[in-house]
Amino acid sequence: MSNRTAIVTGAARGIGLATTKLLLDEGVQVAMVDWDAEELARASDGLENVLAIPKDVSNPAQVVEIVAETEAVFGGITHLINNAGVADFGPMEGTDFDRWRNVMQVNLDGVFLMTQAAAPALKKANGSIVNIASISGLRASTLRVAYGTSKAGVIQLTQQQAVELGEHGVRVNCVAPGPVRTKLAMAVHTQEIIDAYHDAIPLNRYGNETEIANVIAFLLSDRASYVTGQTIAVDGGFECTGVGLP
Ligand code: NAD
Repeated sequence: MSNRTAIVTGAARGIGLATTKLLLDEGVQVAMVDWDAEELARASDGLENVLAIPKDVSNPAQVVEIVAETEAVFGGITHLINNAGVADFGPMEGTDFDRWRNVMQVNLDGVFLMTQAAAPALKKANGSIVNIASISGLRASTLRVAYGTSKAGVIQLTQQQAVELGEHGVRVNCVAPGPVRTKLAMAVHTQEIIDAYHDAIPLNRYGNETEIANVIAFLLSDRASYVTGQTIAVDGGFECTGVGLP
């Protein structure tokens, strides 16, 4: 995957950082975007062929700057990984409107804004996009009214984008991770939830960041040249079980 440039959002840690490192290993230049400037500086320190952009994917003006900076430094954009996200656990009646809006702004508006802004460059490059949803976007639960709905939106948005951009040679796919022990997940996963996932997942464990990044890299690459509009659950088989989310 040499001579390519990717924008990875939420690149300062977790799945975004693992994806950044995997793409760098494959010769891709990476614009690392994250709104946590300190963590982004730490994560990008010592990495070569990266551009660290401390900006917010839910801010329309900043999104335009992210794309412009990447094009100015790297000369184009071949891949976009819409990974930035925030977690939220709560039922409908316990979720106030500000919380709902905050989750939607990052998890769903961010994917819309970033893809809209990067589309002209991706069309020029016949590029590819991977959006990160969640198994929470495939299955409902009493705890995930905002998070699950935002991720279901990402799955549908992936299909819309794939249909609209297909004639320009741009592929758009989605990865729906199962549980991974990142800061985002461990902030909301109680021991009870962890135990329930271990029991319910056919592989009987959480995934790790690299296992998600491997599938992202495959979908971005020419090896997936006839795959678009798809959502792949990378979840140790959880989605096949029909068991409810803990
Ligand atoms: P993480 O918290 O480790 O990383 C997310 C990163 O996104 C952070 O560095 C954060 O600062 C950044 N970010 C958040 N909002 C942003 C914004 N508005 N602008 C720019 N950067 C922003 O979490 P993670 O687990 O690596 O999550 C990555 C993606 O994977 C998310 O979309 C998440 O919903 C999804 N996901 C994670 C799990 C899991 O179990 N960890 C499961 C399913 C889906």
